[in-house]
Amino acid sequence: ATMPPLLSAIANAGRHGVLVKSAVVMERLGQVDAVALDKTGTLTEGTPRVTAVHALPASGLTDDALLALAAAAEHRSEHPLARAVVGAARARGLDIPSVTGFASAPGVGVSAMVGAANVEVGAPARLLDAGPEDAADVNALAHARRLGEDGQTAVLVRRDGTPVGVLGIADRLRPDAAATVGALHTLTGTAPMLLTGDNAQAAARLAKEVGIGDVRAGLLPQDKVAAVREAEDAGRRILVIGDGVNDAPALAAAHTGIAMGRAGSDLALETADAVIVRDELATVPKVIALSRRARGLVV
Ligand code: ADP
Ligand code: MG
Repeated sequence: ATMPPLLSAIANAGRHGVLVKSAVVMERLGQVDAVALDKTGTLTEGTPRVTAVHALPASGLTDDALLALAAAAEHRSEHPLARAVVGAARARGLDIPSVTGFASAPGVGVSAMVGAANVEVGAPARLLDAGPEDAADVNALAHARRLGEDGQTAVLVRRDGTPVGVLGIADRLRPDAAATVGALHTLTGTAPMLLTGDNAQAAARLAKEVGIGDVRAGLLPQDKVAAVREAEDAGRRILVIGDGVNDAPALAAAHTGIAMGRAGSDLALETADAVIVRDELATVPKVIALSRRARGLVV
């Protein structure tokens, strides 16, 4: 028997390194007319490195002690930023203390008890969302802003509620990010949108590099969902591409969701309709074209 076109298309997508979970998904991929991409791990490679370690003088910590403390709290997180922090502490040969009571909040950060101290690591704006309350807060935010302006992701470390330092973390742009954004724009006729939990400065810098004008930064997972719903209410069939636990609700809310497979979180892989297994963003426009061809549409 000849294989039905949508099944052939799934096999073809597989050869391109994209796992499409069903014939229905294969069909829907060709219908998308708008795209929203996550930043960290999606437009970037997802293997960020710690590029700056700054202990606040008032904390009494050395930079190494700060990094070890942050690594302890991050140890059980699967977030790419967490892996960067733990990797940096290991590379410096630091002892990473064990922790109890680990908790993580998508789009915000992590917290854990290191001995008797509560250590939090996360987005400065989220940890200090009531605004700076004292000199340590003001100082930490100033450092974070400088790192953001430099294109880095700034992460704040707090001990028992007091900022003790700031880490700068940077990731490389995927080599195929700009070309993929351009191809998606052409295929859908709509300018792609960037949805990120990262700070506005780092987001704007990266968006400029890849040619995205519509940037939404500092988003929580539910804010990403709201952006998706807004596009759908405007009549769009929106494709969401993401990798994180923080992207899972938006992947579920989208017309179609694609997860980055290599460094993607389990939740994103389970929630998405398709998974990029071979870690090339450029396969997305190819798979959309395959779907359209299978449905007998001219690409
Ligand atoms: P993105 O949308 O770009 O993938 P996330 O929503 O995962 O980013 O994270 C948003 C922000 O929340 C990060 O830039 C960081 O400041 C903070 N954050 C989230 N998880 C962690 C973590 N495990 N450690 C430190 N910071 C975190
Ligand atoms: Mg991400």
